[in-house]
Amino acid sequence: MTQLTARPLIETRHLTRHYHLGGETVMALADVSLTIHEGDFVAVMGPSGSGKSTFMNVLGCLDRPTSGDYALDGEEIARLDSDQLAAVRNRKLGFVFQQFHLLDRLDALTNVELPLMYAGVDRSSRRERATEALTRVGLAERLHHRPTQLSGGQQQRVAVARALVNRPRMLLADEPTGALDSRTSLELMSLFQELNRDGVTVVIVTHEPDVARYAARLVRFRDGHVLSDQRQRPADAAEELAALLAGQAEPDHASARAETEAVA
Ligand code: ADP
Ligand code: MG
Repeated sequence: MTQLTARPLIETRHLTRHYHLGGETVMALADVSLTIHEGDFVAVMGPSGSGKSTFMNVLGCLDRPTSGDYALDGEEIARLDSDQLAAVRNRKLGFVFQQFHLLDRLDALTNVELPLMYAGVDRSSRRERATEALTRVGLAERLHHRPTQLSGGQQQRVAVARALVNRPRMLLADEPTGALDSRTSLELMSLFQELNRDGVTVVIVTHEPDVARYAARLVRFRDGHVLSDQRQRPADAAEELAALLAGQAEPDHASARAETEAVA
């Protein structure tokens, strides 16, 4: 998508967020002005404590800035009360966190249905849409598994399905691969790229350069500021996954041959 025709989905101007802690003021966000257009895929990097999560929480309407402006899809967020914020969140945004945040007592389907319950969607439409979202992330065969009966990668996919079930404009993911091994991370990034190609704007926080390679734009934070902001040619996760699988098939052949030779 060309950036000339795309609409700004996010516009922040001079955002600050201060925390008061034991008589001291922590400037988690110092002065962040950033525009993100519809259809973009942004990776946010930076050292621990540089304000990445604070920024995501403000973007996600989970937190309010101390000062500055934030317009989401043309709507000035600072003017909304907390009910209106919750409605914007539910309608426009999907969240994915490092620790999945699934409810262990509920199966995958019910976990994914939760945002629809809050949105007042009726039961049969809920089932239908949750099933569709889980199918989209490759878990059609796991609808009635509970989180503890799923691998970490599958749990994160349930979390992605839950984030997608309201058909959000934007997916916000804070260290989504932080608890995953490298192969599973690659699968997740491939899914994010696929969703992005389907038009979902993606913003992910990561401290892994390996993961940031799949984004089309790299924003680096330091001390609550944007240190740099560059476009890049994204690596193709699906292609790398296919190469990885092909590469794994090779040693299998080799070891099968070795075994045959040993027997002979
Ligand atoms: P990152 O996600 O980049 O690691 P954070 O956004 O979590 O960074 O934190 C930025 C700064 O704000 C850090 O110095 C952190 O200690 C501080 N901070 C974050 N949340 C709080 C809070 N609830 N109360 C006080 N300070 C906080
Ligand atoms: Mg963080």
